[in-house]
Amino acid sequence: RARQDRATGYCVFESGMDETVKARRALETDLRRALALREFALVYQPQFDLQTRRVTGFEALLRWNSPTRGTVSPLDFIPLAEETGIINPIGEWVLRTACRDAANWPADITVAVNISAVQFAHRTLATTVLSALSDSDLDPRRLELEITESVMLDARGTALGVLQRLRGTGIRVSLDDFGTGYSSLGYLRSFPFDKIKIDQSFVRGTAEDPGNRAIVRAIASLGQNLGMATVAEGVETAEHLERVAADGCTHVQGYLISRPISPEQVDGFLAAKSAEETECRDDPFQVA
Ligand code: C2E
Ligand code: MG
Ligand code: MG
Ligand code: MG
Repeated sequence: RARQDRATGYCVFESGMDETVKARRALETDLRRALALREFALVYQPQFDLQTRRVTGFEALLRWNSPTRGTVSPLDFIPLAEETGIINPIGEWVLRTACRDAANWPADITVAVNISAVQFAHRTLATTVLSALSDSDLDPRRLELEITESVMLDARGTALGVLQRLRGTGIRVSLDDFGTGYSSLGYLRSFPFDKIKIDQSFVRGTAEDPGNRAIVRAIASLGQNLGMATVAEGVETAEHLERVAADGCTHVQGYLISRPISPEQVDGFLAAKSAEETECRDDPFQVA
């Protein structure tokens, strides 16, 4: 809380501001320690192919289990981690852990890792990604990097160069949260993305606002014409799923398929899904 002093015109910081600064510093201190104290964990949310009706892979989502703060949402600590650069060591841990976990999954199951724009500004990103792959022995084609449009704002194009180099090794690249932020259709032409992830606000908002549905349809059709898969994010109900399927999306992700699960639950989840599938195939009453 800053108050402008009437006499001098200068801003005077009141104790409220002091508290905010203190809270941020405390968060930063805890965040710096969290990696060494092994307070981070990954959970995995499945992505589902609407055509084959199969799970194709999982997105790794970061969780911070702080003994003092409880479970902190990435939305609450990633911005500070980005501002302070702590995202670089955290991001490396995420990459290495996700690749190691995925190396134990069936060979046709992929893992998607969120990479922040800040990580692209760090010289070592490409080396880190490649070493995470070789150390875990994971086939590069099973790793997907999820980036947002903010990565494309880098004027010198360094990020594009790094992405191109990584994609050349077989790594897939997805454009996350498409339709929000600095959306520009031009970004879709500046890089051969493998997947467009349609932001959940358009997917879940469809019932109230027909404009959202028009946007989902337009993105799905763009994706089809550009040869990119389109994932509807935030699919929570059967109604959402039917709608985005009718609108031409190729994949879905959301609570309807599954909430994010722990690494220990992945094998069981895949086994249950394939049992379900076999049951459907053997069921003469099941409409194909
Ligand atoms: P995101 O990459 O767009 O991930 C999807 C978010 O939507 C996840 O939130 C997921 O739990 C949530 N979600 C999935 N399905 C549904 C649904 O049906 N309904 C609702 N209401 N939500 C759903 P989460 O895990 O809280 O992550 C939030 C954001 O934090 C992510 O958005 C991503 O931008 C960022 N993030 C998460 N993990 C990492 C990471 O390892 N590195 C970086 N740089 N960012 C991360
Ligand atoms: Mg993502
Ligand atoms: Mg997203
Ligand atoms: Mg998001």
